[in-house]
Amino acid sequence: MNAKGFFAAPVRDPKTAIQTHRVPAEAPWSGLVKRGQSIRIIDLEGQQAVDTLFYSAADFADRYSSQDTVRVQGAAYVTTGTRLISNEGHLMGVVTADTCGRHDTSAGACSCESNTARFGQHTRYLHACRENFVYEVTKHGMSKRDIVPNINFFMNVPIAPNGELAIVDGVSKPGDYVEIRAEMDLLCVISNCPQINNPCNGFNPTPIEVLIFAGDEG
Ligand SMILES: [Zn+2]
Repeated sequence: MNAKGFFAAPVRDPKTAIQTHRVPAEAPWSGLVKRGQSIRIIDLEGQQAVDTLFYSAADFADRYSSQDTVRVQGAAYVTTGTRLISNEGHLMGVVTADTCGRHDTSAGACSCESNTARFGQHTRYLHACRENFVYEVTKHGMSKRDIVPNINFFMNVPIAPNGELAIVDGVSKPGDYVEIRAEMDLLCVISNCPQINNPCNGFNPTPIEVLIFAGDEG
């Protein structure tokens, strides 16, 4: 059995979820996922980038590290079998299902500043993932200094042989999902990306759904 097979999740019936949350287009969300539970993020209409952060629920200073995750797994993308590693080297979660096959953790989250630099001063007023993240983490007593490089679920960021990143059309189909089993009690913070200036959302932000399933042990 290879590593991917070992970590493959059972195909769960969405009706068995213990929580279901619909996150509107462009909106943030956060919630707790206990150790052993799984969180499924569904791209309801396809081609939607879902910017995501994880924090240890016991200690918010222990949080998702894109750098350590890429280093430990020796691969640039997040997919089935990827171990999500914290800045303190702890295993936060394991990706147990992925029907899309392309999730970036290098390109970061959009902000008013990056929008202005990339797309022009006239885009400065636009709502961005950084505002979503700041809004959401303040509910948990954190501030913008606690926002670190994130995962962009469903975002298609090819890496050229010379190391350059490109943000191109998303490849996720309506209903594609990714599932992560929590290996510690997690706070999950999502920005359902409002980006309309690059093709990561097909220039059309759409709603997503978040399901939480009980642990295998019950
Ligand atoms: Zn964004």
